[in-house]
Amino acid sequence: KILNPISRSQVTQDLSENIILTTVDDLHNWARLSSIWPLLYGTACCFIEFAALIGSRFDFDRFGLVPRSSPRQADLIITAGTITMKMAPALVRLYEEMPEPKYVIAMGACTITGGMFSSDSTTAVRGIDKLIPVDVYIPGCPPRPEAIFDAIIKLRKKVSNESVQERSSLMQQTHRYYSTTH
Ligand code: SF4
Repeated sequence: KILNPISRSQVTQDLSENIILTTVDDLHNWARLSSIWPLLYGTACCFIEFAALIGSRFDFDRFGLVPRSSPRQADLIITAGTITMKMAPALVRLYEEMPEPKYVIAMGACTITGGMFSSDSTTAVRGIDKLIPVDVYIPGCPPRPEAIFDAIIKLRKKVSNESVQERSSLMQQTHRYYSTTH
């Protein structure tokens, strides 16, 4: 059977309607930012605000965030609460057990600077970025759930602009950092 010749414009129209062009980075990032799974982790009062996000009022599942109890299944840790010197090794270990690519949100004054414990306490860590790399900071005491949403939106933007190549070189740097300092 001889087919009717298809005009160039018809081919162009068919292609534009049926083919989506993208890059590996965009596809990879779109999948990752739509399913960021945070570790259920809280050490003090900030965690009450974080826990409020899980309920129906704030419903953070709509961003694809599914809280996990194991660091092996999480790619985000939100440090909700004061980190004490005694807790610091456990925080580092939890972070190390999370698979790459992984992210950290420092929530509240206590995790960012030591908060009200920063001046005279010898037991609080004065900034968790001395222990693990932080991607987004949320100031406040405690920050409201809306502020946590704002941080998550900022993190999603960061993820959407990453390239697989850059992320992999960052992972190697982080690995080198941990091999020399821990
Ligand atoms: Fe508690 Fe405020 Fe510290 Fe959060 S920042 S853990 S609310 S004292």
